[in-house]
Amino acid sequence: MKKDALEAQIEKIADLIIQSGSIIVFTGAGISTESGIPDFRSPGGVWTKFDPREFTYQRFVGDIEVRRKAWQFFRAIPWTEVKPNRAHFAVVELEKMGKVDCIITQNIDGLHQMAGNTATRVIELHGTTRFVHCLKCGKRWPRDEIEQWLDQGIEVPMCDDCGGIMKSATISFGQSMPLEETREAEQRSRQCDLCIVIGSSLVVYPAAHMPVYAVQSGAKLVIINRDPTPLDSAASVVVNAGAGETMVKVLEIVKAKAASIRN
Ligand code: NAD
Repeated sequence: MKKDALEAQIEKIADLIIQSGSIIVFTGAGISTESGIPDFRSPGGVWTKFDPREFTYQRFVGDIEVRRKAWQFFRAIPWTEVKPNRAHFAVVELEKMGKVDCIITQNIDGLHQMAGNTATRVIELHGTTRFVHCLKCGKRWPRDEIEQWLDQGIEVPMCDDCGGIMKSATISFGQSMPLEETREAEQRSRQCDLCIVIGSSLVVYPAAHMPVYAVQSGAKLVIINRDPTPLDSAASVVVNAGAGETMVKVLEIVKAKAASIRN
């Protein structure tokens, strides 16, 4: 995209934000690549060593060898060391301006909360890697605690209360979506007046229904993603550029325009 055209698109996003009273921010793996977590579809990284499709819920539950490999995968990304980046912080700024109804994320990295978004405003559709839970009794542990078990040589942790199978609190392929989160995300998507997608290929369903619900209910759609998505034709603005640099510029313009409106 040419520089002038890009700047015009970014200004359009800022205008939509200023005009909007209730924004949904919908995020995917692309918002976190600048934090060092590779996305699925770009080449290289951890996903070339581990194929998450191998770890379907059914295979995980049914085969101890799959669980052994899944626990290696659990540690393949240093989740506790990753830090939010400027795109996450821009979303926090938007929340502070009172613009954000909620953040609906497909990410399991917890970086929106770490950046400073209110935890109750973050809807995690695919769970979180920050916790581990027992599939039988529901007991929950912080990730750090289970990392210590793994450090001590336990390869396939089992619940210390009931002996049940333990699993990271993420939603695997073949596993049902969390009911409450999915329902709330749908309801809020249908009520917003602007949906901003940041860093998602929008091909993973049912999560990718959320921006569709927003558009169907009359909301405007903005897509900030390095590559084209299947929903581009429904969007008022599409920016094919990095999430961090784009959000920083969007925020600068929003702040400048908001200040000039006040004066
Ligand atoms: P995806 O991998 O399908 O798509 C990511 C999109 O982000 C791509 O289209 C890519 O062009 C774009 N992108 C990458 N870096 C970008 C950047 N810096 N700026 C702007 N755009 C960028 O991701 P998805 O749509 O979220 O779906 C994949 C699934 O994988 C999700 O369900 C998610 O749970 C899981 N996942 C999560 C993480 C995480 O938590 N950080 C990481 C990898 C995968």
